[in-house]
Order: sequence, then C-alpha cells, then structure tokens
Amino acid sequence: MDEGGARSVDPRTDLKGMPLAELESFLSRWGKERYRARQLSRWIYGKLVDDFAGMTDLSKDFRALLAASCRISAPPAERIDVSRDGTEKALFRLDDGEGIESVLIPDEERRTLCISSQAGCALGCGFCATGAMGLRRDLSSAEIVHQVCFFARRLAERGERLTNVVFMGMGEPLRNVAEVSRAIDILLSQYGFGLSGKRVTVSTAGIVPEMLSLASKYPVSFAVSLNASDDARRSLLMPVNRKYPLKELAAAMRRIPLQSGRKVTAEYVLLSGVNDAPGDAAALARLLKGARIKVNLIPYNPHEGSPYVPPGQETVDRFRDILQAAGIQTITRERRGADIRAACGQLRAEIGEKSKIQKKRG
Ligand code: SAH
Ligand code: SF4
Repeated sequence: MDEGGARSVDPRTDLKGMPLAELESFLSRWGKERYRARQLSRWIYGKLVDDFAGMTDLSKDFRALLAASCRISAPPAERIDVSRDGTEKALFRLDDGEGIESVLIPDEERRTLCISSQAGCALGCGFCATGAMGLRRDLSSAEIVHQVCFFARRLAERGERLTNVVFMGMGEPLRNVAEVSRAIDILLSQYGFGLSGKRVTVSTAGIVPEMLSLASKYPVSFAVSLNASDDARRSLLMPVNRKYPLKELAAAMRRIPLQSGRKVTAEYVLLSGVNDAPGDAAALARLLKGARIKVNLIPYNPHEGSPYVPPGQETVDRFRDILQAAGIQTITRERRGADIRAACGQLRAEIGEKSKIQKKRG
C-alpha cells in the first residue's frame, strides 16, 4: 500500500493523506477497531492536531504506539506573503527541498484556497509561469492535504473557516490523479474536511480520460482551461491540445455528470492580440452552445520571460458581452494577489534553487 510519505527519510508511516478506508485497513493490522480510524481522522483534519500526544481520547498506550511507528507530516511554510487585497500566499518547503505554493483568497463570506498538485508542471503552456519550470515532481496526497490543513488552522485561529478548495495552483491535477483522488476523498469525507463537491473544483488543461473517470468517482466541480476556440491556436498555447483536441474536449465537458443547477466552468485566459478578438468570442460561443458550461474570463497575468500582454478593460468587456449575448453565463475573474505574485499562472515557488539560478542567468 502506498502510504503517502514514502519520499521522506523518516521511516514512520505518514497518516496524513490517508483516506479513511486506508487508515482503517492500516489500523486493522494492529487489531484496532474501525472507529479508531474515524477518531484519528477527526483529530488530523477536524481539530488539525499533528501531534499524537494531544489526542486525548486515545489511550496512553495507543498514543505511544502511534508515536513510535507513525507520524503526521506538516512541511513548514517557509514564507507567507499577504497582499494589499487580503490574498495570502504560502511557500511550503517539502521534505526533499522542493517548494510549492498555495493561495488563500478571501471574498466576502468565501474563503477559497487554491492548492498545488505538482511541483512544477510538464504541460508547458506558453503563458504559465508554472509551465516554464517544467515538472519537478508529483505531490503526495499528504503534501496536497497539508496545504489545506495549514490554512484551515490559520483561519480557525482568527475565527474563520475555509469554504472552498480549488486545484488551480501549481501543476496539472489530472497528471497526478491517484494522489489527487486520495486528497479529494479526504476533502469530501465527513471525517475529513466535510466539504461538498460543489465547493471542491479540479481545474484541468483537458486530460480527457482522467477527467471523465474522476467525474464518475467524485461529485467534484470541474474547470477546464480552454484558452482558445480553434485547434491551431490552442495547440500553440497549450501543447496538450495535440493529444486531446478541442472537439473531443468540448464533447467530454458535456458528458461530465452534473447535479441540477450546476455547470462546468470553461476558463479562458485573455491574451492581447492572440485570442481576444470578437471573432474568437463568437467561435467560443458556438463551441459551447447549448452546454451546461459557464465561462470564467481571466485577463492574462504577466510574469517574467513570457511574451504576452493582457488586453485592456474594453476588450475584456467586449469579449464578455459577446458571450453573454449568446446566452452564455460569463464572469471576468478579478485579479487577486498580483502584488505578491499570487495571481493565476504566476506561481513558481520563486525561492527554489532552480529559479534562483534562472534569475542569475536572466
Ligand atoms: N493545470 C491546471 C490547473 C492550474 S492552472 C489547468 O491548467 O487548468 C490554473 C489556471 O490558471 C488555468 O485556467 C490557466 O489557464 C490559468 N493561467 C495560467 N497562467 C496564467 C496567466 N499567466 N495569467 C492568467 N491565467 C493563467
Ligand atoms: Fe500546467 Fe495548467 Fe500551467 Fe498549463 S496552465 S502549464 S497545465 S499549470
């Protein structure tokens, strides 16, 4: 069984990141009752305790046994930046030295956490800072859910609660689908974070088979990064389009099972002079016509070394108006956290060794 913390030099089994069923089977080897797994799960994700000594409803002997052979990993936040608009970005240093980032976005009653699923990303979309890093490695479910534990605790300390989790940080979640699935299990479980599927969103560049299979297993929400309305341009911006072209992707988006009133989100990064013309909006409207899909327009967030420029407000509004006139629900995503490089597509764990070297060269 994959126990999630295999990368660590610490030989103890990492209990963080284990879905309830795995925790139950792990504890059953010690002859422990099933409800013990639920108890432990509540301590780890409900009360956010990462020290067995504090688990006061477990016997002293059981706590000693757990402490000797298990651990609850908690990679340190090496740095936390707080934006003028209240957005917070944390950089976590993982056991092997890799860095990943998560972003908390407060918005009225909502507290949305944007989490990473990989260190870097292999898909190489030309407009994305994470893509420019290449793939460093997949994250374990422990590393994925730890980002949630960390911010849930930070919010609890000020009397607030996390309301939404989006897989829109570093990496392509559907290229690490096994660990992402284990993390989703914990996010949705009543013994984990107890979030409803509509509050957990997986954002993907469009890995069609994994998207459909994940959608059949978990009632989570999906956001698909379209970013263009024809294959030629989409393949230039997003090389993964060569494998899963638009027609196939749009058909798959229509097949995602949805509860009543719910829609799949199509994300569309607007790049000036590249994909922001009225004709592009009209083509996008044709592609999505009649589907239960809403559009999230994201004006491009610039980052070093990328040739693109964001369009002006008028262009963004015109694009939105064309979609809306075609009956497609469309919103423009507000730019949050740009002063701390926390906006969409700006994450790249900047103080990692690799980026330091790149900076010196560039
Ligand atoms: N790999 C997944 C999730 C992470 S990217 C995906 O591609 O969907 C999250 C979102 O940020 C995607 O919609 C992507 O298109 C967008 N994005 C990437 N770089 C961006 C940038 N520089 N400006 C604005 N949005 C960007
Ligand atoms: Fe990877 Fe998503 Fe960035 Fe593309 S947009 S490089 S898939 S993280």
